[in-house]
Amino acid sequence: MDTFLTRQRVHEQLLELKLKHAEQAVDHLCDESAERQTGYSEFLCQVLDAELAQRRDRGTQMRLKLAHLPFQKTLEQFEFGFQPSIDQRQVEELATLNFVAEGRNVVLLGPPGVGKTHLAVALGMKACLAGLSVYCTSGLELARRLVASLADDSLDKQFLALTKCKLLIIDELGYLPYERQQATLLFQLIARRYERLSTIVTTNKGFAQWAEVFGGDAAVASAILDRLLHHATIFNIRGASYRLKDRQQALGFSVEAKPHPLKGGDRRP
Ligand code: ADP
Ligand code: MG
Repeated sequence: MDTFLTRQRVHEQLLELKLKHAEQAVDHLCDESAERQTGYSEFLCQVLDAELAQRRDRGTQMRLKLAHLPFQKTLEQFEFGFQPSIDQRQVEELATLNFVAEGRNVVLLGPPGVGKTHLAVALGMKACLAGLSVYCTSGLELARRLVASLADDSLDKQFLALTKCKLLIIDELGYLPYERQQATLLFQLIARRYERLSTIVTTNKGFAQWAEVFGGDAAVASAILDRLLHHATIFNIRGASYRLKDRQQALGFSVEAKPHPLKGGDRRP
């Protein structure tokens, strides 16, 4: 078969095998290999890599879309120098994603603007890139969704969906107080994921305030804390808001970092 016909056949074969990206790259790789006189195995490796790289990229894009992250920010974009109460090594350890493999949790606690959501999102993005399923939602949205599913008898379906993702990010848990029913359903979700699947929680409420947050029900609050904190890395961020940083510079004043008003029992291993 002459070269032209062989190439044509290779295109047909790759398309029949549904290797669309390899098919698009193969002409260029053939020419390059001929020029550089690369071996057969290296050439084959490059063709397959062309397919795999695109598929991985598409998979990551799909996982990022399904994750519903509120924005895309990376750990590299996080200025640790601005927030000295965050242990950078601890964050880097989390970035290995061992915590997801071990079903451990992360709790990011602190006042507004200190980077809680940024860090949660950055870890979520790492997980998406590593091929793990991620889902991000706010505490309020989650509570409303669970209550609504009671009304149309789809609670089991919701629990199933929310225990499928390897990493669940609950942003702003306790930003507003929950009703009792919402609190109980949130507890059920946390209990279902406990020791199996990781959850990252961001909150602006110290643990001492959680009874108030969870419908005034101390038993539910302590049951949630128990499951959430048993295997958890906790960041108690005590710093100034990053949002105000640029405004302060523009206006020529600076805000002192204020400690977050946490009370006893906040640092469980
Ligand atoms: P929080 O969730 O604690 O209220 P965010 O994570 O939403 O705060 O941060 C507010 C904004 O400031 C975001 O745009 C975030 O990317 C940015 N930000 C916060 N802290 C830092 C930081 N240390 N370095 C870089 N950007 C930061
Ligand atoms: Mg936030």
